[in-house]
Amino acid sequence: MITLTQVTKVYQGARRPALHQVTATIEKGEFVFVVGEAGSGKSTLLKLVLKEVRPTLGTVTVNGRNLESLPRWKEPHFRRSIGYVPQRPLLIARHTVYENVAHALRVIGKTEAVCRRVVPEILELVGLGMKENRYPHELSAGEQQRVAVARSFANRPLVILADEPSSAVDPDTTIELMRLMDRINRTGTTLMVASTDAKLVSAMRRRVLEFEEGSLIRDQVRGVWRP
Ligand code: ADP
Ligand code: MG
Repeated sequence: MITLTQVTKVYQGARRPALHQVTATIEKGEFVFVVGEAGSGKSTLLKLVLKEVRPTLGTVTVNGRNLESLPRWKEPHFRRSIGYVPQRPLLIARHTVYENVAHALRVIGKTEAVCRRVVPEILELVGLGMKENRYPHELSAGEQQRVAVARSFANRPLVILADEPSSAVDPDTTIELMRLMDRINRTGTTLMVASTDAKLVSAMRRRVLEFEEGSLIRDQVRGVWRP
């Protein structure tokens, strides 16, 4: 479902490649951790899959499509087919939890009737069924992150990319967040989660792609990670 073939990315003006000759295949329904120290290329990898960044060399395909051949006018539609959870949840402060999730559906043309049916289902899934009328500032950091996950999952994407989603939350919340990711993965959704949380990665025992200065140095099924 996602393949990277000999992908190198050199940002303009950079002294060394952010990613160097990376080759990996991620199958539909997999749960993959992308690990490595700060600056090792994790975010760049996720952005390549979103086509927010283009490879300097090599190819990236998503769902059998070489992203280089995806016309520019199709890019917004393509990006909306992928769920993206940023490092810090970017919620709309003046909107309730319900409205924040509904927004993700409205931008892809879903009707209010669909929102009224789907949003409560998704909020139930992330354990926020009781909080749909709260505002972001009335939620804990972990709850806000769950809203961000709910929003990324609202249109049932085939893939969710999460960039260090647990970096701003406490350990208990991290466990909750990962249980949620696990539940979403069990629905058949492919997950790529960038993380620097060695304890979490080691506890989950999922596939681990480890990067060091832009090179993929390890690809292990049910891996652990000790930086
Ligand atoms: P990570 O997410 O693992 O911290 P990144 O993918 O963000 O790593 O960064 C990998 C390398 O690329 C780092 O050296 C970083 O400074 C550099 N980099 C990231 N984004 C840019 C950019 N837009 N322009 C130039 N260099 C960048
Ligand atoms: Mg990063």
